[in-house]
Amino acid sequence: MITVSHLSKTYQDPDGSRLTVLKDINCEIHAGEVISIIGPSGTGKSTFLRALNLLDPPSGGSIEVDGENILQKGYPVHKLRQKMGMVFQNFNLFDHMTVLENVMYAPCKIRKKSVEQAREEGLALLRKVGLAEKAGVYPSSLSGGQKQRVAIARCLAMKPEVILFDEPTSALDPTMVGEVLSVIRQLAKEGMTMLIVTHEMKFARDVSTRIFFMYDGYIHEDGSAEQIFEAPRRSATKAFVQRIRKEVFEVNGQDYDFLDMETSIRRFCFKYNIAGKSDRALQACKLMVEDIMKDYFPMTVRITHSEMSEETALDFMVEGLETSPLPASGDFLEKLRGMCREIVEEPTSRGFRVKLRLD
Ligand code: ADP
Ligand code: MG
Repeated sequence: MITVSHLSKTYQDPDGSRLTVLKDINCEIHAGEVISIIGPSGTGKSTFLRALNLLDPPSGGSIEVDGENILQKGYPVHKLRQKMGMVFQNFNLFDHMTVLENVMYAPCKIRKKSVEQAREEGLALLRKVGLAEKAGVYPSSLSGGQKQRVAIARCLAMKPEVILFDEPTSALDPTMVGEVLSVIRQLAKEGMTMLIVTHEMKFARDVSTRIFFMYDGYIHEDGSAEQIFEAPRRSATKAFVQRIRKEVFEVNGQDYDFLDMETSIRRFCFKYNIAGKSDRALQACKLMVEDIMKDYFPMTVRITHSEMSEETALDFMVEGLETSPLPASGDFLEKLRGMCREIVEEPTSRGFRVKLRLD
């Protein structure tokens, strides 16, 4: 369906400096594929999607869609826009139109549909994304998740052959990520061809038929979801997919800001989809800071989570300490053991660390 050859993009700054963001992109995208594009920020994922959709003309190479080079002079952009829809991070809805008018606008304007037919199809699409009851309201009264579902319905109204999603959930409150991902999952089930730039690794692993890992201006590695996540071949891919999320806070004494710590831990657990662990993480943290290690201030506390291995841990580090701060026995220690899968006591180059593995 889409063949990309030697695609490149160089940005030229007003001051004359140049930045080559896409160096040599080559790929084939077949009908029915769901491809997640992952990679560190600044590696050209958005630039690539914008080039595919002719929102931002590339500097070189070719893009064939259904056998036609869309970069050739005189190629009618409106033809591409009917085949290829795009959903943005920030929804880009028309704020002065109701939800239904947003969905009806392009079919009426570009596809020359009758108002009646556009309305009927628009309502059916809103029903599909669970928002039929919001048809008459303005976008400003919707939540972020609802806005993004409207944006998807609006995109579907053009009956595209392929949809490009550029981080569709990254502007959303974590509570609303799920509702948008389930709409995309449903489209995947129905066989829609999609390219999805996302940081939701679990979602990418579940939904994709293929993954592109973008790095340094190239599709650095391309493979099945299983291969990329379970057995990445290249070291940059491996470092990216196996990366560990962390949040660090300092505890300087007994008068530490426990509400701040509680908020940090809960936010962290929420963000990485481990809200079920947040109570236990918090209890273990309090037990350590307020009882077991109360004579070891200042200390650094760190919560870490690996999305791939799904391991969550709490580290308590005290600089300059040479032996473990944990007692050999006692009620506190028993209580702590009951909360953790494993307790690791280890000297480090700068002090001593107690690691609690939570799973
Ligand atoms: P990603 O989506 O992977 O985070 P982008 O495609 O947004 O990356 O950007 C890649 C690089 O190109 C970044 O360094 C960014 O600053 C630069 N860039 C993006 N758009 C422009 C632009 N319009 N002008 C100049 N530089 C840009
Ligand atoms: Mg981007």
